[in-house]
Amino acid sequence: MILVLGILAVIAALLVWRPWERRSCRWREDRRKLADGRVLFVCMACGADMALPKGRSPKTCRAGDM
Ligand SMILES: [Zn+2]
Repeated sequence: MILVLGILAVIAALLVWRPWERRSCRWREDRRKLADGRVLFVCMACGADMALPKGRSPKTCRAGDM
């Protein structure tokens, strides 16, 4: 019974923390790709890209969207 409770605790912890979702995106600016005033950011961690107005930087990770 204790073993079952332990397994349930581990599953619950995984569901809460979700280690497979990388929330710490490493966004990198790529100024070469856009010339209309926006800046393209490419995440080095999950490969997502996001175009934002100049002066702004992405704060979220989009790894879970795919
Ligand atoms: Zn990412």
